[in-house]
Amino acid sequence: MMNVETAAEHERVLADLLAGRYPDERGRYGPFGGRYVPETLIPAHERLERGARRWLADPDFQAELNRELSDWVGRPTALSPAPHLSKRWGALVWLKREDLAHTGAHKINNAIGQALLARRLGAKRIVAETGAGQHGVASAAACARVGLPCTVYMGAVDMERQAPNVGRMRLLGATVVPVTSGDRTLRAAIDEALRDWVSDPTATYYLLGSAVGGHPYPYIVRELQAVIGREARAQLLERSGALPDALVACVGGGSNAIGLFHAFLGDRSVDIIGVEAGGRGSGLGENAATLVNGRPGVLHGSYSMLLQDRHGQIQETHSISAGLDYPGVGPEHSLLNSIGRVRYESASDDEALAAVRECCECEGILPAIESAHALAGARRWAALHPGVRILIGLSGRGDKDMLTLTQTLLSQVQAGRP
Ligand SMILES: *Cc1c(COP(=O)(O)O)cnc(C)c1O
Repeated sequence: MMNVETAAEHERVLADLLAGRYPDERGRYGPFGGRYVPETLIPAHERLERGARRWLADPDFQAELNRELSDWVGRPTALSPAPHLSKRWGALVWLKREDLAHTGAHKINNAIGQALLARRLGAKRIVAETGAGQHGVASAAACARVGLPCTVYMGAVDMERQAPNVGRMRLLGATVVPVTSGDRTLRAAIDEALRDWVSDPTATYYLLGSAVGGHPYPYIVRELQAVIGREARAQLLERSGALPDALVACVGGGSNAIGLFHAFLGDRSVDIIGVEAGGRGSGLGENAATLVNGRPGVLHGSYSMLLQDRHGQIQETHSISAGLDYPGVGPEHSLLNSIGRVRYESASDDEALAAVRECCECEGILPAIESAHALAGARRWAALHPGVRILIGLSGRGDKDMLTLTQTLLSQVQAGRP
């Protein structure tokens, strides 16, 4: 049992959070967050912080952003009741359909918002990094839309694995630069994008893809993704007249989850669950469940929970879903975890694949494997709480995962295995 003092302290932190006191003036979420970046990038972060505070609160900027979200991204995205999953799980299930957003996932909300911000800040070009290519595609599309040239750094290994997304980025006018240093995947791509930004930090805007990085990035990304939860809360209240009992989203860097959760943090009756990638097991290197298995440390500009060995070396991670395969997590999630406002759990590769199949067969929706982790977590929650009213963030569509699904699920389906 938690002692009374700890409970009171958690209450105090939550009250501060709800009052908008995080990030604080040092870019902190309690002990987490901050700005651990090279000296040469401090002025660029400070400029960005001032710009973000100004423009995100500017009515003219908000009007422009909202216009693009509705005319081009396709917002508001639907809130779908899931009658067949509801019946099977003995729950009342709703899906917030970010899979219906332009380019197929929530990432576009952030990409178009930051591209518009970059233009207001007078940037002449945009750099981004991408792992699986989803953020690269969203960035390339957003840059084409606002008329800024876009360079995307991508690990050479990832370019091979994700060839269709490389083609999409190039068709959308982006320059894709293969990264052959380091691990030749996402981490090396981030290093290269930062190097590019350092070389010309005034004319270049670095478009970061999740709620991670040095301050103000976690704040900017949260503000741009919070539209998911604002819409979902209003849609659910209008449709059913009540809040959900539980809210579930998958957590990689944490952008779709913080976007869904934010509008509900003050609703004490709502249980909030974040689902990380449990991979093949709980051993080192077998998963990407950062909040479940990690310890605090510094990665890519912020102090947050991290998968590391006892010497502080970043651990290799594994997940069947590229979008969750990251050893860090956004600092606001670390705070929400530390005060117990959000529960973080994990779902394994196999549980996620089973959830992809169930969602396809029951609801006629092919979810991204990332999103299927949320479905698997929600299913487990429903089994423990009969009759629960549960809102699930469906962060993206699964078309991009066909290669993986062909090698795994499709053979089971074709062999007629249940
Ligand atoms: C990238 C991605 C994620 C993980 O990123 P977050 O920042 O944790 O949201 C989840 N779902 C989909 C569909 C993605 O493309």
